[in-house]
Amino acid sequence: MSHPYIKVELRRLVSDRAAHICEYCLYPEVEGLSCQVDHIISVKHGGATAADNLCYACIFL
Ligand SMILES: [Zn+2]
Repeated sequence: MSHPYIKVELRRLVSDRAAHICEYCLYPEVEGLSCQVDHIISVKHGGATAADNLCYACIFL
């Protein structure tokens, strides 16, 4: 499955907004275990690649 391109500035906005903490389980991002910017509503379901449809999520999800 291909991941839609998310601009660096948008990734930074989302990660800063989340204070580098997973927005689902509140697990802080640590060295070697990075969170990623994720679509809340996936693109294939019509979700937009915009700040209000993006969240910061850890790899456990
Ligand atoms: Zn998490």
